[in-house]
Amino acid sequence: MSIQVFGQPVSRGVAIGRAVLIASSRVDVAHYFIDPSQVDREVDRLRHARDEVAAELVALKSEVPEEAHAELVALLDVHLMLLHDELLADATKQWIVERHYNAEWAMSAQLEVIARQFDEMEDDYLRERKADLEQVVERLLKALARQAAPGQAQGASAARDFAGEDPLILVASDIAPADMLQFKRSVFTGFVTDVGGRTSHTAIVARSMDIPAVVGAREASRIVRQDDWIIIDGDTGLVIVNPSPIVLEEYRFRQRQIELERAKLNRLRHTPSVTLDGQAVELLANIELPSDAAAAIQAGAVGVGLFRSEFLFMNRDGELPDEAEQFEAYKAVVQAMGGLPVTIRTVDVGADKPLDRMSAHELRHEHSLNPALGLRAIRWSLAEPEMFGQQLRAILRASAFGKVRLLVPMVAHLSEARQIRQALDRARAQLDALGQPYSAVELGAMVEVPAAALMMPTLIDHFDFVSIGTNDLIQYTLAIDRADESVAHLYDPWHPAVLQLIERTIACATEVGKPVSVCGEMAGDPAFTELLLAMGLRSFSMHPAQIASIKQRLLRADVRVLRSQVGAVLAADDPQEACQKLLRARPH
Ligand code: PEP
Ligand code: MG
Repeated sequence: MSIQVFGQPVSRGVAIGRAVLIASSRVDVAHYFIDPSQVDREVDRLRHARDEVAAELVALKSEVPEEAHAELVALLDVHLMLLHDELLADATKQWIVERHYNAEWAMSAQLEVIARQFDEMEDDYLRERKADLEQVVERLLKALARQAAPGQAQGASAARDFAGEDPLILVASDIAPADMLQFKRSVFTGFVTDVGGRTSHTAIVARSMDIPAVVGAREASRIVRQDDWIIIDGDTGLVIVNPSPIVLEEYRFRQRQIELERAKLNRLRHTPSVTLDGQAVELLANIELPSDAAAAIQAGAVGVGLFRSEFLFMNRDGELPDEAEQFEAYKAVVQAMGGLPVTIRTVDVGADKPLDRMSAHELRHEHSLNPALGLRAIRWSLAEPEMFGQQLRAILRASAFGKVRLLVPMVAHLSEARQIRQALDRARAQLDALGQPYSAVELGAMVEVPAAALMMPTLIDHFDFVSIGTNDLIQYTLAIDRADESVAHLYDPWHPAVLQLIERTIACATEVGKPVSVCGEMAGDPAFTELLLAMGLRSFSMHPAQIASIKQRLLRADVRVLRSQVGAVLAADDPQEACQKLLRARPH
């Protein structure tokens, strides 16, 4: 039976494929296709792992002291029984033989299937055996990790050409932003998660991958079953489970149309970004990893407007990258951009980007009272002067290889501006003492909290440029957690208060002749292009994949149409409607 689930559309396009359900705790399990010639070897790995775990359990049983409770022995017997159960052993093998999944992936795929069956059991005792099954699978995964993986050994991993295999769509309850990052070069052609808002960092990373994604689809991971065929409509947020042949054909047709449109858009790559009335506009790229610089160049970006450096810091079990490692990463981006400016944002951890792996649920309930208002972004950096100094020195050193700009997230106080300058002076002095070269680096503030926008006339004196982080600016202006799907309907970029703060920031910076850009998701949303241009914005930073459609929009834009009407749009009850009406009425 076909079922529809609705969520938040995150990344445009249509994906059609088989569902791969992944438990949030298992997103770090390797997922790759093995070559058909490696099937026997992979099945052998599985067999060895099972023999190893069986030996482990038998040894444990023999070590149970006499006086220990008989329950412990019984429990180990249950584990042994589960280990040899056909449902686990044979079915896991089938994933390898028929679908060419690597053993770890096959194991976790089958765990999801059986776990679902346990969840549906009426008998409490049997239902609780799910935890035992998870423990057995955990042991098996550890045993597999101790063996060499043939696919990985040959570097096949996600890079293996999976043509011929069914396309796959990842379905999970939630995925942390850093985990999402590891799927960047993966086998998945779409994503669905139960939790998250449109501008949660998980959604942002999904968008940067330029594949259809839907977040906040609440029940999706419960409704969808392993291997179901699903369709993701990344424009509307619709997920269709087990579609009928007619629906499937309709979406395949749309998929082909989207591909044709993309091919057309890509031809704009080398067209200069100039509006109809001759205004030159700078289109920059947002990146998360040094390797993303290639996509920025490919998309025709004239620089990096936002390098979210925090992704270098996440999921490292407390081992933060030192100055040398950071320097290499920043230098790699600067060199890849070949002389184009690179804006490196200092580390922005906290809120929905914890340093260590943590689910959205844990984040919300266990980590901190209100992480979005806590020690995040520049607050965290100033509280960790040693780490901040290392990052500043690494960024300064990278400036010896090209044009680097330094951007600080979440500035709200003038005292922070002073402390940042002092830290920068200290970092320069340290490099001077060591004879390390560096060039002039401009300092910019992200305008992400209403306080920064409101005090712009004063704040701007302390910085060389500003960049408006609309994702957080909306969150903090409207008091809406951007990662919380339950209030996603209230997260409104068209809210007059948000637009007024943006307009004010652009006007202030322009008045004193300092560069201003928007690097939040609004910059990559064509619905806002004309309005932002009319407010005076000439620099937009977005995911490389969005550059072509924004360029197409601005090539057809005439800034004069809205310029005198910005005040009226901002004062309207419904700015979105007012803006669209004015654009529809423009003379052709
Ligand atoms: C923003 O807040 O708009 C922004 C660009 O930063 P991030 O999305 O990384 O918080
Ligand atoms: Mg932000």
